[in-house]
Amino acid sequence: MNAVVATQTGLASLDGDKLSALERLADGLGPAELYWIAAWSAARAERAQRGGVLPPTAKAVGDRLTVLYGSQTGQAKRIATQLAARAEATGLSVRLVRADGYAQRDLAKETHLVVVISTQGDAEPPDDARGLVEFILGKRAPKLPGLRYSVLGLGDSSYPQFCAIGRQLDERFAELGGTRLAPLGEADVDVDAVAGPWSERALEQARQALGASTPVARVATLQPVPSRASHTRERPFAASVLDNQAIVARDAGRDIRHVELSLEGSSLHYEPGDALGVWPENPAALVDQWLSVLKLDGEQPVRHDGKELPLRRWLSHERELTRLSRPLIAAVADASGDSELANVLRSDQASRLATLLADQQPIDLWRQHPAAWSAEELVSTLRPQTPRLYSIASSQKAVGDEVHLTGAVVDYLAHGERHWGAASSFIGGAGDDQRLPVFIEENEPFRLPKDASRDVIMIGPGTGVAPFRAFVQERRETGADGRNWLFFGNRQFPRDFLYQIEWQAALRDGSLDRLDLAFSRDGDAKVYVQQRIREQGRELYAWLQDGAHLYVCGDANQMAKDVHAALVDVAVTHGGQSHEQAREWLSALLQQGRYARDVY
Ligand code: NAP
Repeated sequence: MNAVVATQTGLASLDGDKLSALERLADGLGPAELYWIAAWSAARAERAQRGGVLPPTAKAVGDRLTVLYGSQTGQAKRIATQLAARAEATGLSVRLVRADGYAQRDLAKETHLVVVISTQGDAEPPDDARGLVEFILGKRAPKLPGLRYSVLGLGDSSYPQFCAIGRQLDERFAELGGTRLAPLGEADVDVDAVAGPWSERALEQARQALGASTPVARVATLQPVPSRASHTRERPFAASVLDNQAIVARDAGRDIRHVELSLEGSSLHYEPGDALGVWPENPAALVDQWLSVLKLDGEQPVRHDGKELPLRRWLSHERELTRLSRPLIAAVADASGDSELANVLRSDQASRLATLLADQQPIDLWRQHPAAWSAEELVSTLRPQTPRLYSIASSQKAVGDEVHLTGAVVDYLAHGERHWGAASSFIGGAGDDQRLPVFIEENEPFRLPKDASRDVIMIGPGTGVAPFRAFVQERRETGADGRNWLFFGNRQFPRDFLYQIEWQAALRDGSLDRLDLAFSRDGDAKVYVQQRIREQGRELYAWLQDGAHLYVCGDANQMAKDVHAALVDVAVTHGGQSHEQAREWLSALLQQGRYARDVY
């Protein structure tokens, strides 16, 4: 297979005209579209090479395959798009559809379905799939005796209910009478390690079920294909640090930083709402802690996955050291023979597991459950390092070849030891001479309205305010005439009113029309943004009735839920709606893209 791919690559140079035509076509496309084209072309080339015959027409292989996805950060969309392109190029009739564009009445008629869906936080569906997931899991779902399906869940095993939404859908389809084609796939943060092979298998099963005769050859097209256009997740840009400053008072009790990076020479482009992916380097002091607790030599070479590096380099650059995960807990319980730790993973111990995952880092497990680990065992047990996504805090129209971030540095004492957040320490500690490996992660659902005359309401407590700095800059630069209203909250007005001077200037120059503040630790009683939302409910409801777009960014666990509840109350109190109607009204706003959330 490699030979075929290598040969194809060797032959695949385009002459000037064709190359410029292709460049024109690719210009402005996002990663998802580029992956789609890459997968489509590779499968087409493979097919042509097998016999020079183009794929049979859709009708020749029977019914249609529906590939349905629900995606928050774009990963599920990318996997689904690649899978659909591949299926199409091998002769199937395929419909690729985002969950919020799927008509619920179609479900009963569906015969062949592949679902790719992420789980947010603990057990939440992505926003674009909320309505559909509710429908499928609810009482109104139809019986599905004619359905043959496969589900791929995406998740993060540092949350207790890993891939919960994928799992629930997989079980529910069976309960409704469907026949499972491929077993449920559960992809962790290194998505492609599971998603690639799973997609091959699901596609082959779907082809057999649809009566297509030619097996799908295994080519590497379901892996991300590096784009030649610019820098990507796999090929990040080394961005130099232009500025890195604390934006909270010295006595704030924590460090929140404003960081400016240069994108000069990268041709990277971003829109307000997009995120910057950063590949972190683990703190050297944390790597030292690990080596000392595990009694391992950092200079010892370790070979894994065809790569040989000193152990220290594996730990600093290649492995996740700061987030605990279920597989790691299982491995530590096994190595240390600690049955009490193994018990935490039992299904009836969910709350103990949740506490453990939230309160501890791997270093705490190494200390509390000692075992003899070889360097090779350690490297093969740990999850690969993954990039962290930061909501971009600048508009490129305002800052040119720069990108700005807002981040709270995670650095605290617990269980008698210092603990760090990998990316926040890396970024927060970045000096002038340092370069950070970065890429742009598109966030299409979190976009300013195309119609610049629409009003926008932005709710962003803490560092959740970051994308709204970008929104306000963008609306100022483009002269958008819609009004802008920001709800911001933090702990104490004098210490952590992030970007205070900029907001005041924006109020003066008219690029911000309203600013409502909630400082939680200034008085005796906590005041949160949702209290301000309720207080301003009449006007807020009027803005929404006039077509305003509403955005929420920040903490998913509590804040986003509490803000949602406050919005329901506003519609009940000021719109005369019942609670049920208010919830449906907000779901409709989510579906229409007029209520967007960027929360984790
Ligand atoms: P933080 O200090 O933890 O909280 C900011 C403010 O929100 C504080 O005043 C806090 O009050 C208050 N707060 C606490 N619980 C709340 C609730 N249920 N409803 C409303 N307000 C509440 O904020 P941070 O450290 O800057 O982090 C914000 C969160 O947003 C983090 O979880 C971060 O990971 C996330 N974030 C997500 C994105 C994204 O998804 N794109 C971007 C940026 C940040 P008290 O602490 O006094 O209770």
